[in-house]
Amino acid sequence: MKAAVFYGPRDVRVETVPRPSAGPGEVILRVLRCAVCGTDKRIFTHGQKNVVPPAITGHEIVGTVEEIGGGVDGAGASNTIFVIPSPPSGTTMRGDSRSTSGSRRRP
Ligand SMILES: [Zn+2]
Repeated sequence: MKAAVFYGPRDVRVETVPRPSAGPGEVILRVLRCAVCGTDKRIFTHGQKNVVPPAITGHEIVGTVEEIGGGVDGAGASNTIFVIPSPPSGTTMRGDSRSTSGSRRRP
């Protein structure tokens, strides 16, 4: 799969990387859209101490579920999921199409 990989300030390369697999409590999404936020811009420009290169930094995405790890509830195959970085656990929330965060079934 292709990914934008951060190697250091002002050094991001689009590369082919291994496709991950879902471990326990994890879901693999096919990314449909990814935002570039102020945090991403700051990392690109200056780096960030908790982002150790090489790193894939996109964290505000929408995608469809491709693989579900053991112990995951509420994420069915082909569901469209909004990932929001704010919850401390990094989990997603169920919502509806009007929500700015959460997940919804594909129409
Ligand atoms: Zn962000």
